[in-house]
Amino acid sequence: MPEIPEVEAFKSYIKSHCMNKPIADISISAAKIIHGVSPATFKKTIIDNKFTHIERRGKFLIIKLAKLNKYVVMHFGLTGSVHCTKEDATVRFSAVRFIFKNHTVLHFKSIRKFGKIWLVSDPDKIKTLRTMGPDALALTQKEFKAILEKNGSRNIKAVLMDQAKIAGIGNEYADEILFQAHIDPHHSIKQLSGAQLGALYRHMKSVLRYATSVQKKAIKHVSAGEFFSKEDRKMFKSSYMQAHRHIDMICPKNRKHRLKTATIAGRTTYYCPIDQV
Ligand SMILES: [Zn+2]
Repeated sequence: MPEIPEVEAFKSYIKSHCMNKPIADISISAAKIIHGVSPATFKKTIIDNKFTHIERRGKFLIIKLAKLNKYVVMHFGLTGSVHCTKEDATVRFSAVRFIFKNHTVLHFKSIRKFGKIWLVSDPDKIKTLRTMGPDALALTQKEFKAILEKNGSRNIKAVLMDQAKIAGIGNEYADEILFQAHIDPHHSIKQLSGAQLGALYRHMKSVLRYATSVQKKAIKHVSAGEFFSKEDRKMFKSSYMQAHRHIDMICPKNRKHRLKTATIAGRTTYYCPIDQV
């Protein structure tokens, strides 16, 4: 589930809590999360090392280590997040703990253990990163239209979520972007007008930027609970579907409309059957 807005929030959270702090220990409670090296090598490389730089690419975080020229690369799967605590705190679903010498801990949480952490000397060795399309926040309108035109026969939501075409958008924000742009998620790209493609581009940028600002605020409120709970959804302005999906199913454009769900591009899709044409 974490998409650009959540992963951007994780990035600034790690940046403000974990950079340039010596790492004293690593504790791994779910070995299947570690990739690229064995859990033992992972520990050995990271202990006495530090995080010196962090960047986001699509739904990935890439953290450079001070020594040994290695990178820690995180992908959050469906339900992953990060959380910082004092060393003695108990955190549910904590799968990997980076324990700093100052007795604080960065927890990599993964409820269903679909999250992944790699230790690599070159992030491009990870196939999904290497083959990823341009980041949605970096795309120019011209590049965006070119990508859509090349995929004209495909469903619009499927292409928005296809990481090899456009990186960083998943199920929830694809729905929000299509809702704000008044576009029916059932359409193929070639069914859309030039004006609709223009609206889609503008709303892709504005939804991702606004949601990033909300999620950066929301993550500061996380205690031991879950990030992106129903409470977090309520932090979105009421004109956003995020504030209504899973909650009251009221259409934010007209309170007499009910949101509907359908399976589109293999995912549960929320939309307004009246406003989205
Ligand atoms: Zn509506």
